[in-house]
Order: sequence, then structure tokens, then C-alpha cells
Amino acid sequence: MRWRIPFEKLRANPFQLLPTVCVVCLRQCDSDFNLCTACADQLPKLENTCDRCGLPFSPTLVPTGNQRRCGACVGLQFPVESCHGLYHYRSPVDALLSNFKFGDRLDIGFSLSRLLARAMGEYYETNTKPDLLIPVPIHTRRYLQRGFNQAWELTKHAGRLNGIGISNRLVMKTRHTEAQSKLASATERKHNLRDAFAINPRFPLKDVTHVTIIDDVVTTMSTVTVIAKLLQSHGIPRVDVWCVARASRIFTP
Ligand SMILES: [Zn+2]
Ligand SMILES: [Zn+2]
Repeated sequence: MRWRIPFEKLRANPFQLLPTVCVVCLRQCDSDFNLCTACADQLPKLENTCDRCGLPFSPTLVPTGNQRRCGACVGLQFPVESCHGLYHYRSPVDALLSNFKFGDRLDIGFSLSRLLARAMGEYYETNTKPDLLIPVPIHTRRYLQRGFNQAWELTKHAGRLNGIGISNRLVMKTRHTEAQSKLASATERKHNLRDAFAINPRFPLKDVTHVTIIDDVVTTMSTVTVIAKLLQSHGIPRVDVWCVARASRIFTP
């Protein structure tokens, strides 16, 4: 008997050779990635959110006009045109992301990227697709510690499954910084990111007018705002953001 490597299957799911056990309930999986349909359906979805910041409307804030914007965003101009998150950053999403990022669980990242890709695909059926998906870059020092950039892992699959170009060479992290989530004030977060990113001068930007930044978790939007400003200063007018989890102090347990 000759062994044949199932390249097509492996391309669709590089973790196909591992047993397909759901990463949440640990039962046999009914999907082609490691998260069963029942558990995926029970993840804490973000619904009824602001078009600009991606946070859910509080019951006391009523969206106005064609653009559904929360009280913090209405009437203001931001470098990020829209932010979309799939889930609240709470159990079990926080644990899944933590295991993906800090526990080398790339199979969890792959499962989350499939859910991200599906949501993006549905959104871009009726909205203009970006020219390029890019990850929030990490510094080489962190890359060497972790061995991968979690945002790039999500970007690769989301781009391939939706037929959108991807690159991790357009924006570079040029300085190692503290994790933004560890900093308490907006001033500290702003200072922490000063000159932390740069555009690769050799990247061909011709015909790129719409870029979507991908990250695993977005909390204050300070990082994606800095990157969006940088992209706009290099002639890219529209920048969107997609993330697996949108955290806010209101919803974090
Ligand atoms: Zn399950
Ligand atoms: Zn908002």
C-alpha cells in the first residue's frame, strides 16, 4: 500500500492529522476544525455594536442616523473607519486566546481564524473588500520568544479563505514595547507606542487604498489607531480593523 499525503486537506486544515477533539468541550468534533458547532455557537458574540469602535451599545444609548455610532464616537473623525470584533473578551474566549498565544496552541488559533474568516466573508458580501489584510506586527524580540505572531496566523487564514491579499511586510514593529493592556492611562499608552511602528519603504503601495488590520484582541484601540495613522500618512485613506475579541473595561469580568 502506498501512502499519499493529503495536501489539499492539509492546506484546508494543517491540524487535520491531529484528532479532531473540540478545544472547549473535549468531545469528538463535528466541524473540520477543533471547535464543535455547539461550542462555537455558545461563544459570547458581540451584537448590536457601534460601526466605528465595535463596542456594543449600552441600553441607554440609542444609535442615530445611517451610521450606528455610540455616544463616544458620534460626530467624530477617527483614523480607523470601522472596527469589528467577533466576541466579548470573556470566558471561554479569553482562555482560548491565552492558550493560543502563550501555550503554542496554533490549532486553537486556526479554529478562531476559521470563525473570523467566516464573519469577514459574510460582511464583505455586502461591503467593499479591502485590498490587503495585515496583522498588527510584533517586534522581533517577542517573535523570538513566542515563535509566531498570533495576528499573522489569523490573517493568513482569513485572507486565503476570503480571497483577499495578505502581507506581514507592510508595517513593521521597530521598537519593543510594554503590553498596552498593562498600562493604566491613555497618556502612558500613547507614549509607549511613540515611533514603535514603521512602514516598509520597499513595499509596493500602488493601488492599495483600503487596508484591514487584524488582531487577536482589541482593547483601547490605541495600537490600531497608531498603525492606521501611519497608513494614512502614506496615502492609504481607508483602514478597518477586525479582531477575534473586543475587550472593554465594562465587559471584562
Ligand atoms: Zn465543543
Ligand atoms: Zn463607538
